Amino acid sequence: MKLLQELTSSLNRLFLFELEDGNRVESVFYRGDTLCLSTQVGCAVGCPFCLSGSQGLYRNLKVEEIIGQYLILKDRLAIKRVAFAGVGEPLMNWRAVEEAFWWFKGKGIRVSFYTVGSPASKLRELLKLPHSGVSISLHGVEEGLRRLLVPHGGSLKELLSVLREELPKLSLRKRKKVSLAYLLLKGINDSEEALRRLALLARELGVGVVLLRYNHTVEAFGDVGDREYERAFLLLRSYGVRTTLSTRFRRDSLGGCGRLLANRSLTGC
Ligand code: SF4
Repeated sequence: MKLLQELTSSLNRLFLFELEDGNRVESVFYRGDTLCLSTQVGCAVGCPFCLSGSQGLYRNLKVEEIIGQYLILKDRLAIKRVAFAGVGEPLMNWRAVEEAFWWFKGKGIRVSFYTVGSPASKLRELLKLPHSGVSISLHGVEEGLRRLLVPHGGSLKELLSVLREELPKLSLRKRKKVSLAYLLLKGINDSEEALRRLALLARELGVGVVLLRYNHTVEAFGDVGDREYERAFLLLRSYGVRTTLSTRFRRDSLGGCGRLLANRSLTGC
C-alpha cells in the first residue's frame, strides 16, 4: 500500500492510501495525538447519515493494511493513540482488527473503538479487551428508529441484552471507558422524551453518553441548533449521566465524523 495524498485543514490531517488492488482508504490524524484508522473498504451497515458506507462494502482490510496506515505515518506524526473509528465497522472485520489491536498494545499505543455493537458475539469479546475506550453507536432508543439510523447494525434488543449481561462483569474503572454514542438529528431523535429514555438507559447501564452533532454529510438530515444541543446536554446531566460533547475535531469538514470515504478520487478531494 502507498500514501497517495495528504489533505489538511486547520484542525485535522487526512491521509489517502491506495491498496495493492487499487482500492483506497483513509486515516485522519486529530487532536494532535490520535490516528483514526479504517478497518474496511466501505461499510455494510449503511447508516443513512454517513458517507463512509454510502457505497456499501467493497472488502475487509487485512491486518497488515490496518497496521500499514500507522506504519506509513508513524515517523511524521506524534501518534499516542489509535481509534478504530474510520471507514468500516470494526466488529465486522473482527479477526484482523483484534490482531491489529494486540499489535498496537504491544507497542504501548492506546486503542479505542467506535462500533455499532454487531455481531453481538464480537462485542462481548471487545468489551473484555484492555482497550482505552469503546463508544457504541446507539442513535435511537427505540427499535424502529435505531433500525432506520443503523440499518444493518443488528437489533437493539440484542445489543441491550449483551450490554446488560457484560457490563456488570466489568470493574467500575473499565465500565467508565464504555459509552453510548448518540448523534442528535433534528426532528428525528432529539425530542425530550427520546433524550429522557437515553438518559435512563445510560444510567441503568452505568455508562456515559457521547452526544454528537451532525456534520451535514447528507442533506436529508439536519443539525440541532446550539441551544437545543445545550439543552440535550443539560437534560442528560440532570439525570447524572456523564456526557461528552462533540469536539471541533469531530465536526471539522475534513475528516470529521461520517465524512471519511472509501475509494475517494484524487480530483474529488
Ligand atoms: S457510521 Fe460507521 S457503521 Fe455506520 S455506515 Fe458509517 S462507518 Fe459504517
